[in-house]
Amino acid sequence: MPRLLRSMPSALLFSLIGIAAADARDVVIHAGTLIDGVSTSPRRQVSILVRDEKIVSVETGFTAPAGAEVIDLSNATVLPGFIDCHVHISAKLPSHTNATEDWLTHSPLDRAFDAAVFVRAMLQQGFTSARDVGGSDETVAVRNAIDSGKIPGPRLWVSLEPLGPTAGHADPRSGLDPALSHSGWDNGIVDTPDEARLRVREHKRRGADLIKLVPSGGIASTGDDPRQQLMTNEEMRVAVETAHALGMKVAAHLYPAGAIENAVRAGVDSVEHGSFATAETFALMKSHGTYLVPTLTVYDVYYVAARDHPELLTPGTAQKELANDLLPKKNFPSAVKAGVKIAYGTDLGEGDHAMEFGLMIANGLAPMEAIFAATRNAADLIGAPDRIGSIQAGRYADIVALEGDPLRDAGAFEHLRFVMKGGVVYRAAGAPAAGGR
Ligand SMILES: [Zn+2]
Repeated sequence: MPRLLRSMPSALLFSLIGIAAADARDVVIHAGTLIDGVSTSPRRQVSILVRDEKIVSVETGFTAPAGAEVIDLSNATVLPGFIDCHVHISAKLPSHTNATEDWLTHSPLDRAFDAAVFVRAMLQQGFTSARDVGGSDETVAVRNAIDSGKIPGPRLWVSLEPLGPTAGHADPRSGLDPALSHSGWDNGIVDTPDEARLRVREHKRRGADLIKLVPSGGIASTGDDPRQQLMTNEEMRVAVETAHALGMKVAAHLYPAGAIENAVRAGVDSVEHGSFATAETFALMKSHGTYLVPTLTVYDVYYVAARDHPELLTPGTAQKELANDLLPKKNFPSAVKAGVKIAYGTDLGEGDHAMEFGLMIANGLAPMEAIFAATRNAADLIGAPDRIGSIQAGRYADIVALEGDPLRDAGAFEHLRFVMKGGVVYRAAGAPAAGGR
């Protein structure tokens, strides 16, 4: 069955059966309002011509080329597919089981099946691309399964295990019986510059698209302090240099101002979280062109869990969550004021990936800038602005549509009506979505 048809909602599928034997057919989307991810103001009544998996042209007015299938979104706002730059595709919300119990009772194979469910939901929420910044071999397998059309999900860029020191935020043994070990638990451990170089190269061999560093302590981990820098400047520098030489970007999980500044000077491409940054930190990021991925969503989710259900968090971490989770929102306006480049990230797997729009807007980011964070900025950070993040000729036909006006009502991001990825419709009003919700 042709790829276009295999994943079509039934209504569109049936309308196309008559031409199933013909060659690939053009599709034209009539967009009532178009926010294309590049222009700073929306356009009205625009036609987007899609052929196979790409956008062919974007024209003013509603055109209907002979033989083209028309998708009528004339009363909707059409945007580029959203991009979440900070996900963990197999991560569960803190609502089912204790995080440590889940970690110790699930294999990477189990996590792959969890991820298959969560990536399908991400796509249904309008996220046609995502960057996984911390997982194991299952993330590579899920990325490949999506790319080959075996399961629905966003295009994925994956980092494999974050690189950090023994007893750091990314050391899976922290907080466990020291006698416990497991193959793979040391895959991200870096305690010297030479190990940093080796781990980056090993990750490349195992299929990583980018590298994630955890130079500072974390919050949702036992035994480390989010206010400390844990990697040395030299370890960061060697990791960045090796990754960049291999064509990989570097994302860095960071909290304290000093550690952020050292990582920025070491050349990381993005600072994830950035909770304790100061105005000077943001000025340095601005001058280096370093992206901030603020992940306000995860703190909202975990603050509530720490307050109401601490038994669902990693043991001993609720106090750290309560002490630190409200800081990023307080700090976010300072980043906006400094003009730091911002890319969209939630730090979720399971859950509502559209939450970050509302949180960024409520905390001082203009709605159009929030859209840019999830489209052109995210595509730039990932290193694929020529393929994703905008509705222009030559880009993948990754296109979503919302009810209402997202520039006036941040709630509109929760009212998704249509999702197309690579020319295939995964969600359409009135039709069951391909692969379910
Ligand atoms: Zn994360």
